[in-house]
Amino acid sequence: MCFDVRTLFIVNPASGRARSAHFKRKLLDRVANMPDAKAFVLTAAGQAQQVASDAACDGCDRIVVAGGDGTVNEVINGISDSRVALGIVPLGTGNVLACELGLRTDDIDGALDVINQGKVREFDLGLAVHRQDQDTQDDHAYKAYGRRFLLMAGFGFDAEVVRSVPPRAKGLFGRMAYAPTLIRESVRYKPSTFRIMLDSQPAFSTTAYNVVVCNCATYAPNLQIAPDARPDDGMLDVLIFESRPAMKLRFLGWLSASLITKWAADPCAVHHPAKHVRIDSDPPVKMQLDGDVHGESGVEIRVLPKALRLIVP
Ligand SMILES: [Mg+2]
Repeated sequence: MCFDVRTLFIVNPASGRARSAHFKRKLLDRVANMPDAKAFVLTAAGQAQQVASDAACDGCDRIVVAGGDGTVNEVINGISDSRVALGIVPLGTGNVLACELGLRTDDIDGALDVINQGKVREFDLGLAVHRQDQDTQDDHAYKAYGRRFLLMAGFGFDAEVVRSVPPRAKGLFGRMAYAPTLIRESVRYKPSTFRIMLDSQPAFSTTAYNVVVCNCATYAPNLQIAPDARPDDGMLDVLIFESRPAMKLRFLGWLSASLITKWAADPCAVHHPAKHVRIDSDPPVKMQLDGDVHGESGVEIRVLPKALRLIVP
């Protein structure tokens, strides 16, 4: 594919609720009238990463994702180390990045105004590398094996919830599709023994339901899990939800409340800032990056300072 335009819109027709279809049609109409811009409508799952990679090689200045946080994650992995600016038109289920940026969802013209104004801010990214893939200390190879994330990497309970929600339910019920799975998993889910190493400190063990490595403060649409996390301070914020009495209920209460209303409280978690984190678990647990499952624990995570140019309001 060849993308000889300044701005490429990558439109994911599968993201978000069924009712967002007319927003996508409206967006395609607008893009058709924009100078030096083109829209590419995805036709297969996982295609966004390759399209973004091709567009970056072809010299596009800006890639705009019209979709959800999962599509954004594919695109940041596609553009990799190129300096393409990323914009978003939030049309997903959760739109956590849009919440972080203070962008309204379901507002095509508002999102396009932000893109046309073109204010760029540099964001850190996280890079997660599975330990078995890490046969070299060479920085370039390390990056090639790793998967980048913009919002968070979650290990354990939240990744299990993400894995269990059928995509079709998200299309029908939006983020309320998470509610039955949250309740079921909260009854069923057992904590694991994590072994965690932060920067060059000695590793420690802890029994926990969930470990979340945050790059941004926002974790779910109405939930700031790490209110003090800054996406441009060169640090990641590691939150550990330990297996203590009432912890499971409190964590679940939080997540459930965030489905309904805006919620920002002090996180009921142990909090460590770090640039480099190793996370192992016994038994191994699922890992989610920006809301999609990508393998299991047994990973190293590094911060990539100011690795992404993001178009912000
Ligand atoms: Mg940070």
